[in-house]
Amino acid sequence: MPSEFDPMWEYSTQLVHAGERLVHPPGRPTTTPLYSSSTYYHDSLDAFNDALAGHGYAYGRNGNPTNVAFERAAAIAEAGTAAVSTGSGMAAIYTALLAAGRVHGGALRTIVAPRDVYGATTVMLRDFFAPNGIQILTCDMTDLDALDALLAAHTVDVVYVEQLSNPLFRVVDMHAICSRAHAHGARIVVDNTIATPIVQKPLILGADFVCHSATKYFAGHGDVSGGIVVVRDDAAAAALAHNNATLGMVLGPYEAQQILRGIKTMPLRVERQNASATTVAQWLATHPNVARVHYPGLPTHPDHATALRTLGGRFGAMFAFELAPSVVLEQFVERLRMILMVSTLGDIYTMVSIPALASHRGLTPDERAARGISDQLIRVSIGIEAVDDIIADFAHALG
Ligand SMILES: *Cc1c(COP(=O)(O)O)cnc(C)c1O
Repeated sequence: MPSEFDPMWEYSTQLVHAGERLVHPPGRPTTTPLYSSSTYYHDSLDAFNDALAGHGYAYGRNGNPTNVAFERAAAIAEAGTAAVSTGSGMAAIYTALLAAGRVHGGALRTIVAPRDVYGATTVMLRDFFAPNGIQILTCDMTDLDALDALLAAHTVDVVYVEQLSNPLFRVVDMHAICSRAHAHGARIVVDNTIATPIVQKPLILGADFVCHSATKYFAGHGDVSGGIVVVRDDAAAAALAHNNATLGMVLGPYEAQQILRGIKTMPLRVERQNASATTVAQWLATHPNVARVHYPGLPTHPDHATALRTLGGRFGAMFAFELAPSVVLEQFVERLRMILMVSTLGDIYTMVSIPALASHRGLTPDERAARGISDQLIRVSIGIEAVDDIIADFAHALG
């Protein structure tokens, strides 16, 4: 057993080891400590062997107790059996797609993705999958007939779905998509970042992999980046663990601890944010300086019926609205006194972003128009402030 102190050691040697690896007296911490160790030692060669074989901790890239605590909480949050954390949401999506290909029996050949998929995911599919010979098909996931036609015409390995799209908040019928995809032997990978498991748990509805940008609602406080993939079968979990150990897309333990803390209040935050979003969206829909509100909780939204039928009475904590042509966008933005203009979502703060300038700036005005994204469109992520203060700030900015 290595010692932490030996009076025979030189002073400099003593300071290298002093205080480390102490055996603590009884009394265990109630919350998971931050394990910032990148390696783990063992009392015997047998124990070390076991750890290297996967039954213990040996090296940080292969596992860390703080990350395991976050992964366990995330698995429970999404009604899965296992989860693997990653350095960001994009890494979660990447590793989930690779793992979906592996458990599918080797190479990925064809992925069907939503037409209005998240911007960075579009770029990932275009620059990192398509050049390797993987066919990327796009589909309006709210149109089940269109999905059926694609599944009938191609051998699809993965159907990639987002619940609550950005920025028009389209709602997909998750159960219907999963049963269709499975009937054709495809795996379903879901980006559930915007909906959150408080609104819907895709694994219960048939999905195989659920990814999150844990940067958003899981962490919730805008102070950390991270990702998580949750699954419900051992083969998928093993494929994800293999990816992390080999490709090194690991999350740091500090971030894991912060997100673990965020998960504890996620139901409280997200329920309040959902309720406030409904109130604010209804209020904006009656405002004379607002041309239109895109929120699945309003009867005017094209997916209101799907939302009512499948989302368990919640409609998400985000929406978008179009300023009336008479309102000058710059003036609206500059008159906000509490609401922040940023390019993220899911924080405790109420935040707006302008898709034409931020998430969809890479598209031409015509391409944006084809997707229904006008230059006057404002995307809103509702925070946990008192709803009257949120409305008051919008009222002031709208004039
Ligand atoms: C933010 C986001 C991502 C990417 O997550 P990062 O943590 O920024 O890497 C993926 N999908 C959706 C829907 C997002 O909002």
